[in-house]
Amino acid sequence: MSSIPHYLTNLDLNYFTEAARDIPYQKVHSDLFPGVEVWIRRDDLLDPLISGNKAYKLLYNLIDAGEQGVETLITCGGAWSNHLHASAAAGARFGYRTIGIIRGERPPELSAMLQDAERLGMGFKFVTRELYRQRNQQEFPGHLGGELQNYLYLPEGGANFAGARGVFLLGKIIEATKPIRFDQLWVACGTGLTLGGLRAAVNSFPVCGVEVLKAGGSIRRDAQRWLAALSTSEACRRDQVVAKSVDLMSEYHCDGYGKYPSQLQAFQQAFERQSSIPLDPIYTAKLLYAIHLRANAGHFECGTKILALHSGGLQGRRGLQLGS
Ligand SMILES: *Cc1c(COP(=O)(O)O)cnc(C)c1O
Repeated sequence: MSSIPHYLTNLDLNYFTEAARDIPYQKVHSDLFPGVEVWIRRDDLLDPLISGNKAYKLLYNLIDAGEQGVETLITCGGAWSNHLHASAAAGARFGYRTIGIIRGERPPELSAMLQDAERLGMGFKFVTRELYRQRNQQEFPGHLGGELQNYLYLPEGGANFAGARGVFLLGKIIEATKPIRFDQLWVACGTGLTLGGLRAAVNSFPVCGVEVLKAGGSIRRDAQRWLAALSTSEACRRDQVVAKSVDLMSEYHCDGYGKYPSQLQAFQQAFERQSSIPLDPIYTAKLLYAIHLRANAGHFECGTKILALHSGGLQGRRGLQLGS
């Protein structure tokens, strides 16, 4: 298996699609999933910095930005945000100024992620919690003060319609390149956009999401909203619009976002030792842990073939050290 990381050197749709079509599917040899055949699609290998689902969410946003003559990308996120990291890297590589809006005061020491982003040229604006709460409003960047012109505002996590179109493309690529007939596709969920986008695009097998935080019903609502928006858009007119709903597991978040109990740590270590596939502690470790727990509890029919999406995020390994 070749797992030489790609390096996305331009923003041409065909070029990106070719790179995405080359992403390997890796069969996992492990005793952690009894009775189940687990494969991983390695989208962590798409690019060393603009990786995983965040690359797909950025794709059409960056294409639009190029067409509109945008000079500055403004976005927001937390101290370990994979989206901020990918946005800073994309800005540095493709020639955009980037501004990251962060909640709270500037800490005495920046997280390793924010240090990367700063090295990649991202400027930070630390805002009060009150102001940060308005981040989903269209005019949010206008409240930040300063002269802002020619900018594109990307919502937290890259969760806008252009982002959903990128994930839809990923779903179509999975349908076109899957090496075997899978029974289920599994994906980790933060906002739910990736789940909704994949659900809209993938018709030959069901898609199942694993919530990584206590979200109440908001992930399901958002996933359903993106699914509906994509289902009525040009991008997938050619598909039969069937009434689809999203499948979501809410019992594997291990008590909340970023929570990393010792059982999860032990699982991640065992998985990585057996498969040689690195996971991130926030998203993909919980995704595989959920499949592991369900396999052990006998929730799958024997021989079920599962494809799990490696959605990237490996920079976040520095936030929660294994064994700590
Ligand atoms: C952001 C992220 C997700 C969650 O994607 P959503 O579309 O917000 O649900 C999953 N995995 C990784 C590694 C991520 O960085």
